Amino acid sequence: MGSLRDDAHKLADEITGLRHSIHREPEIGLDLPKTQQKVLAALDGLPLEVSRGQSLSSVTAVLRGARPGKTVLLRGDMDALPVTERSGVSYTSEVPGVMHACGHDTHVAMLAGAARLLAARQADLAGNVIFMFQPGEEGCGGAPLMIEEGVLDAAGDRPAAAFALHVASEELPGGTFSSRGGPVLAASDALEVTVHGRGGHGSQPFRAADPVPAICEIVTALQTMVTRRFDVFDPVVITVGSLHAGTAKNVIPDDAKFSGTVRTLSAANRAVVREASVELVRKIAEAHGLSADAEYVQGYPVTVNTPAQVAVAEQVIAATLGADRYVPQSNPDPGSEDFSYVLEQVPGAFISLGACPQGVDPDGAPANHSAEAVFDDAVLPDGAAVYAALALQTLA
Ligand SMILES: [Zn+2]
Ligand SMILES: [Zn+2]
Repeated sequence: MGSLRDDAHKLADEITGLRHSIHREPEIGLDLPKTQQKVLAALDGLPLEVSRGQSLSSVTAVLRGARPGKTVLLRGDMDALPVTERSGVSYTSEVPGVMHACGHDTHVAMLAGAARLLAARQADLAGNVIFMFQPGEEGCGGAPLMIEEGVLDAAGDRPAAAFALHVASEELPGGTFSSRGGPVLAASDALEVTVHGRGGHGSQPFRAADPVPAICEIVTALQTMVTRRFDVFDPVVITVGSLHAGTAKNVIPDDAKFSGTVRTLSAANRAVVREASVELVRKIAEAHGLSADAEYVQGYPVTVNTPAQVAVAEQVIAATLGADRYVPQSNPDPGSEDFSYVLEQVPGAFISLGACPQGVDPDGAPANHSAEAVFDDAVLPDGAAVYAALALQTLA
């Protein structure tokens, strides 16, 4: 048995082949039958207890070590995005309008590689590894569905730690890992508002009840609320991305509507913004003699890393690949992730992996979700080695 890194690099062709195959046939949402088949084929013949999801096309695989011990969970998400690929890679998507623009194809391939590396070490292993191949990360809540179906208890006892890698096509140099303790990604909620007025002639607003000036005031008041009511060091973002009213310049409409996204980095702020935003909307409408329906829709919670598992990750990456391959992440990212649901129940860490191709400036590279995003194959063996090393270190 060589070093993990050497063994992972011997699997490079296999890991890359799986990645390309998934990249060519991307699937969206909770039902990814082709991707699931590819995962099952990649795991075939390994000494794993493999099960499939009921309400989604997930794959859960359990590796039991030769001796009893703790359990560790490794997660790789599997779903693509409704994007028409313009990356120019040779293994480009063959499905019109669908692309692995968030790099989840690399996660599947790295996790399958880790399963092979760890299975080869089964005789030396004390404890269990749960491999969580998860559909529906992009807004469908695949992780909470897998938790409902028992992924956290798949090996019998609760994992002592859970880890997820996520590739980034920009910002981080290729091959560099990064994470931080505490909040690492935001909660993502929605605010849906309809202001009800009474339509009329544009020349005689005093005979109508105009919802348009009121809704404009509400949108700007939400921005003022963010800066006046929330600690600047515990950020809140509200972005109104959709706003609609009326049909003609001289007709006062009955209603006006908007919807926005709300990002918070603490459960405390999330609870306050939920109450405060709805109250602000209703009371501004009331102050103008109108009424408003305001619905606050909760999405993914804040992703909170456990400092101890981030320290394990830093140590493991340094030992496996070299100390220069890890950089501490200074700030959380206002994106969101449903791995947050796993970390609500199990200590662990969400770790970014720079996958910007060599020779491309990470600061100018197309971002995740871009039609032009490129995730470099070169990082795949090291990612598989790190997944495996995180499990070995947790079970050591
Ligand atoms: Zn994404
Ligand atoms: Zn993603």
